[in-house]
Amino acid sequence: MLTTGMLTTGRRRPRQSLGNSGSRGYSRESQSFGKVAFGRVAVPSPVAPAEIEVIVSVPFMENTLIVRRPGRRDCLVVDPGFQPEKIIRSLQSNDLAPSAILLTHGHADHIAGNAALRQEWPALPILIGAGDAAMLTDPRANLSALGGVNVTSPSADRLLVEGDRVEAAGFEFDVLDLPGHSPGHIVYLLQTESPFIVLGGDVLFQGSIGRCDFPGGSQKLLVGGIRKKLFPLADDTIVYPGHGAPTTIGHERRTNPFCGKNAGLFDIE
Ligand SMILES: [Zn+2]
Repeated sequence: MLTTGMLTTGRRRPRQSLGNSGSRGYSRESQSFGKVAFGRVAVPSPVAPAEIEVIVSVPFMENTLIVRRPGRRDCLVVDPGFQPEKIIRSLQSNDLAPSAILLTHGHADHIAGNAALRQEWPALPILIGAGDAAMLTDPRANLSALGGVNVTSPSADRLLVEGDRVEAAGFEFDVLDLPGHSPGHIVYLLQTESPFIVLGGDVLFQGSIGRCDFPGGSQKLLVGGIRKKLFPLADDTIVYPGHGAPTTIGHERRTNPFCGKNAGLFDIE
């Protein structure tokens, strides 16, 4: 059965971020962009461009995304965080019906809302990278036990690996493995949009990258994956990270102090 215990408690709030690396925080900016709709289309498109709503959950300022095409009721929920009531309220007030939960990784701040969403929509499938699937049901593995809050989720309905494609709610997402912040971290790439969109989780942030000091973390893998798999994407590709404001591939390739042009690494233009 679904486990709802301890999902909404805020009694203990670990101060350290579960997401980004280093001190380049996002302060209040991360909350201010609220609802972001993309109407920019470089070429005529037969379908309405993706509309993405960002819902920020305390205490980790984690971004849940609601991804949909205008005019459709079905949509996707990406990384439901610690305030599922805000997500459910938004879905219901917009008369939306989620068709899947897409997870970028299994850390608690990205999965804490799963159980509550499942209570509301019992048939809602949960998709996660194969390497992080065990975190869903293990509070130590998903790091919630560290903060004294035992977060669990229903188990996954589909395990994803690089090369998989997820077709739902009028979208086709290509899955890329991007380990380093967590062992089974994946990102979802929407190549049908113009510009492309990456639902990026805790990989590449505006001016930062995901933390690599958790179990199974590796900065070498993370930076290598960003440079090999994300930086070849077009400059105007939009990245929606798991914390903080959206950014673009071009901006991070030029300026990111951990993996960009000035990071002291080789082979980057
Ligand atoms: Zn994380």
